Amino acid sequence: MQNSLALLDTEIILKYLGVESNYFILNIFDSIESTNTFLIDFFKSNKVSNKSSLIHVAVAEAQTKGRGRNGRSWLSGFGESLTFSINWNFKEFPPSQLSSLSLVIGIALIRVLKSLSIEHIYLKWPNDVLFNHHKLAGVLIELRSGMEKGCNAVIGIGINFNLSNVTRANIAAKTTDLFQMTGKLFDRNLVLSALLIELKKVISDFEKFGFHYFKSEWLGYHAYEGKRICLKKPNHQIMGIVDGVDDDGALFLLTDSGRQIFNVGDVSLREEN
Ligand code: ATP
Repeated sequence: MQNSLALLDTEIILKYLGVESNYFILNIFDSIESTNTFLIDFFKSNKVSNKSSLIHVAVAEAQTKGRGRNGRSWLSGFGESLTFSINWNFKEFPPSQLSSLSLVIGIALIRVLKSLSIEHIYLKWPNDVLFNHHKLAGVLIELRSGMEKGCNAVIGIGINFNLSNVTRANIAAKTTDLFQMTGKLFDRNLVLSALLIELKKVISDFEKFGFHYFKSEWLGYHAYEGKRICLKKPNHQIMGIVDGVDDDGALFLLTDSGRQIFNVGDVSLREEN
């Protein structure tokens, strides 16, 4: 725990990673447009082989054009959040088999936050972390195919640590941060290293066993299970009661016209009271 802001620091993160540090290449920025964009451009420019098993990490004190899903923005000011991205080369899975990956990333987030004694956190399908209906963290996954069998995933994560009033006022969604939740300033270097280790573990398990292996754990964190929600698609919305997920991470909804299934895509959930 800290009394004031400690900046992101490569040496400290490597120390926390210990032997696991051999698997990661860290790129720390004071300010960058978007950590996801950095990694995508990095791979496009072929500076590194798609087949490399090293995990590249981009982490920034501030993002000037942080992105959420489907063109939405992710906002954070200098040092207020942990915003970072990693790449993962899936050797066997094409993008069509990775729809449940975002749910698995949510599991890594919850496990690490709980290990820091942060409780009462849940996942809003597919992967937002909520505390008391307020958004604490979000995930953006961007897939790049073009390889024979597999694909390259860039996985971006934003966790709010201590948002300023200015940042908070610019976010339309109900938002929270770790300081507001606990009254504590968490060490971002420590949390990042714990997340990197957990992400490596869950994605490796996902490659071996699939989402089925995580499904009951995920359902235990599911914020809206059994609740009445409104599912918003670009052109219309559907009301229903949430009834679990399938082995590909798609969401079941009990609607007036029966049990329907929705894939991870451009859909957003809102709880109906
Ligand atoms: P929704 O939360 O509307 O269902 P989503 O899960 O697809 O959408 P993301 O792509 O994860 O959303 O994040 C983008 C949305 O999150 C923005 O539209 C904004 O409302 C909200 N947002 C932006 N910055 C933050 C932040 N720092 N903390 C919490 N929420 C944020």
